[in-house]
Amino acid sequence: MDSEPVAIVTGSSRGIGAATAKLLARKGYRICVNYRSDEAAARAVVGELASSGAGAIAVQADVSQEDGVMRLFEAVDKELGPLTALVNNAGMLLPQMRVENMDASRINQILATNVTGAFLCCREAVKRMSTTHGGQGGSIVNVSSAAARTGSPGEYVDYAASKGAIDTLTRGLSLEVAAEGIRVNCVRPGFIYTDMHVDGGEPERVDRLADSIPMRRGGSPEEVAHAIAWLLSDEASYVNGTFIDVAGGR
Ligand code: NAP
Repeated sequence: MDSEPVAIVTGSSRGIGAATAKLLARKGYRICVNYRSDEAAARAVVGELASSGAGAIAVQADVSQEDGVMRLFEAVDKELGPLTALVNNAGMLLPQMRVENMDASRINQILATNVTGAFLCCREAVKRMSTTHGGQGGSIVNVSSAAARTGSPGEYVDYAASKGAIDTLTRGLSLEVAAEGIRVNCVRPGFIYTDMHVDGGEPERVDRLADSIPMRRGGSPEEVAHAIAWLLSDEASYVNGTFIDVAGGR
């Protein structure tokens, strides 16, 4: 059996996910680059990983859809081998808005991607990794946000609440599977330079808020990727159910 670790990084066609996929590939993982809509970007990431010698595939799947998640994990079973690591990174936000103006469709869209998607991916990972199911164990890192602590008033409380749910998922699942060879941890990025802020309606948001950050600057996707990679690794072998804030002290 191939002994290289195998990782799924959800939402890795750009931003923090792409930086994580590239770092894990340098560390010897075989990688599944999952994406929702931007096939060209996902293929470009896979091309970069392949040119550096890493085994990599791109799989389109909307993580909020159960059949898509099943397809994603089955593709990895077939093409990369036994899963050892999952990074639940796929996430979204919508244009800034006060709660009093949010409709159910918007709130459900955020929760379906950010919460249901993470749950479904955790479920499929546990089925494959848990020693009670004949697996070899593994490691899961969920990508939450400092917004889970701040609540993002006036911007996107729906998004912040979805990240609060990710923190609780991390804590609960980590205890549920701790004796089955699986560690579950979480990173909470602060203001990071990615295109997510374009989707939020304010491309320059990180620069606007930089002075409110104790370190007086936004973070890079690579700085978040290093925390994710460490939590996944054997160097963190006794770290479970915990959180690393990558937020410049915020
Ligand atoms: P990003 O640049 O907007 O990238 C999002 C990625 O997720 C893209 O690859 C996108 O794929 C994918 N995606 C979105 N919805 C998906 C779905 N339903 N199914 C599968 N893939 C989906 O975001 P980012 O800034 O790198 O953020 C990554 C994670 O970090 C998110 O969970 C975010 O909440 C969290 N975070 C970010 C910041 C920040 O300041 N940037 C701060 C705190 C936390 P397509 O492009 O193909 O649709």
